[in-house]
Amino acid sequence: MPRTRSRHRRGIHILPLLLAAVALGIGLFVYLRSGAETPPYEHSIQGSDTSDSDEVQAPDAEDNGGSGETAPPPRPDHVTTASGIDCTLTELGDDAIYTGELLVVSNAVPFHFPEEQELVNVYDNKTTSYYVRDMEVYLAPVALEALNRMMDGFIAQGGSKTVNMVAGHRTKEVQEHLFDQSSDLNGLDHAQEYVAQPGCSEHHTGLVLDLHLFFSDGTSEDYDGTGEYAWINQHCQDYGFVVRYRGDKQAITGIADEPWHFRYVGLPHAAEMVEQDLCLEEYIDYLRGFTFEGEHLTIECGAGTYEVWYEKGTETYLPDSGEYWVSGNNIDGVIVTCKVNE
Ligand SMILES: [Zn+2]
Repeated sequence: MPRTRSRHRRGIHILPLLLAAVALGIGLFVYLRSGAETPPYEHSIQGSDTSDSDEVQAPDAEDNGGSGETAPPPRPDHVTTASGIDCTLTELGDDAIYTGELLVVSNAVPFHFPEEQELVNVYDNKTTSYYVRDMEVYLAPVALEALNRMMDGFIAQGGSKTVNMVAGHRTKEVQEHLFDQSSDLNGLDHAQEYVAQPGCSEHHTGLVLDLHLFFSDGTSEDYDGTGEYAWINQHCQDYGFVVRYRGDKQAITGIADEPWHFRYVGLPHAAEMVEQDLCLEEYIDYLRGFTFEGEHLTIECGAGTYEVWYEKGTETYLPDSGEYWVSGNNIDGVIVTCKVNE
């Protein structure tokens, strides 16, 4: 298994920023000093009531007093990162937060259903290394391509053809049906604990798949990721998947151990999540520490070297050239991932 190393790079050169901050500080100090010595009536926009200096002064003093409160200066249109990537400031539009491979979807964070979703039929496009439940299972193209490569890898290293892919993309209606079925069978409390609410299942993204086992004698079994199948659970990150729900992360994800449920997040993020031992909720928080103006995250994995930053909102810097992609986190911002040419 290729090891992942991360190191942190400073996003932009810090010295000009530091000088600018000092200059701004001196300017503000001078301005505040002059403000304090100015008679109160000069602050009054109305100019009529000069008797109550408190009322007139208060808003001004507050505006300038909290030096962190003033609006930040506009960001330059073009900048070069410390690692030499030329970037342009770009407004991505609101959909950017709700689109991509790093979306957190849970009962706390519902999926935003797009008008159109690109899905492919697994039966028609899979390799011969595994089975699929029936001809009505769909996945996002990136997830199916990665699944094909992972299962081919499993067979190539000596695995048997016994893995059955039993669930992929789910519509809201299907999830509703599953929820009601569980509720009818085991009660509402049980359903709420074990089945995602309709609209809140990761399966809606098309980036998720569930595995089961099917044997040549016609019997089947739950997939638990042990024995010969441990290879899949231990190597899935090399193909961009993570075992999304683990028992030791249940307090954070709200879902019990599910060794059969794989989530595609792509590379290099799957490798970094495993390296840092973070579930997706934790990883999204971790990425918030790597803003464009601050340090960028550098991830080195078997697939190459990548530079990553997080931006709150939808306005961010994008590389002028080279391979890069953007994903929302489904909460408050976007993550930009750039392949670094070496
Ligand atoms: Zn699942």
